[in-house]
Order: sequence, then C-alpha cells, then structure tokens
Amino acid sequence: MDGQTNLRSDKRSDNQDLLRETTTHSAEETIAFGRTLAQLLAPPKLVLLRGDLGAGKTTLVKGIAAAFEAAAEEDVTSPTFTLVHEYRGPRANLYHIDLYRIDTQRELETLGLDDLRSDNSVLLIEWGEKFPRLVRERDVEIALERDGENVRRITITDTAAL
Ligand code: ADP
Ligand code: MG
Repeated sequence: MDGQTNLRSDKRSDNQDLLRETTTHSAEETIAFGRTLAQLLAPPKLVLLRGDLGAGKTTLVKGIAAAFEAAAEEDVTSPTFTLVHEYRGPRANLYHIDLYRIDTQRELETLGLDDLRSDNSVLLIEWGEKFPRLVRERDVEIALERDGENVRRITITDTAAL
C-alpha cells in the first residue's frame, strides 16, 4: 500500500484496511496519508505517535490538522519546546503534544492533559509511550519507522478495534 490508500472508516471491519502497514516516499505523501487517516480520528481520541526523532510524527500531524480544518499544514510545527499546540477546528479541537522533554510523572501532571480531554478533543501525543498510563488509555497508536532517506513505514493500531 502507499500513501494514496483509499480508506473507509464507517465500520470496524473496514478499519482493518488501516491496520496494515503503509509506506510513504516523501513528506508530502505522509501529509496526504495523515489527511486520509483523520477519518479514523473522530473525537474523542487519544492518539500516540511513536517513532524516533525525524520519523515523521509532526509531519503526519500536518495532514491530520489540515483534514480537520484546524490548521494549515505550514502552521503545524513541532511542540518540542512549547509542549502543547492547540488547533481548533469546526469538528474537533486538536492538541498536538510532545513529551520528549518530559521525564517524570510529576512533570506530566503539571501539563494537565486530563483537562484537555473532552468529547470534542483529539490528543495527538509524541513520545507518550514513555508513560504507562498514556499507553493504557490510548485509542489509536501510530508508529512511524524510517526506512531510508525519504521512506517511512507507518503502522496503525486501532486499539478500540482489537
Ligand atoms: P518527528 O516529529 O517524528 O521528529 P518530523 O515530522 O518533525 O519528525 O520530521 C520528519 C523529517 O523527515 C522532515 O524533515 C521531513 O521532511 C522528512 N521526511 C522525508 N521523507 C519523509 C516521509 N516519507 N514522511 C515524513 N517525513 C519525511
Ligand atoms: Mg515531532
């Protein structure tokens, strides 16, 4: 499959299409895949984005935020220093969160992620796997792996469908 994979999202069985691996060959393809993937992310959702630095997690969020009409692709930047970026759209409030610099449970608590969770919120969390509670509470996990300069393997696990 490639980034142009046609996705259907209405039924659990159809979501099986998404559980397979996808390979993209450019940042643009990953953004396009993020746009399609947004169908799976009707709020409320807690999404963990896994992958090394430069794997393409933030790039994928550009497509997701664009599909939700919450932000233009170019306005989605890494929340590495600000920790949380909020993008409000007509159908959802997206929170793009980067926990790379957060090391303790206590620091995590001061971020107040629980306060961001609501019926119309989608939390997209980079480095969330550092915290067992977030791993337990996630609805969807998206793993990105670098497989060459411009090649990324993207695997989606919809834990609600497991
Ligand atoms: P992360 O948030 O995982 O650290 P970023 O999305 O910030 O990663 O960075 C990914 C980098 O890799 C960007 O510079 C992007 O242009 C580049 N890149 C090259 N090929 C791809 C691809 N297929 N998908 C996503 N990003 C890619
Ligand atoms: Mg990032």
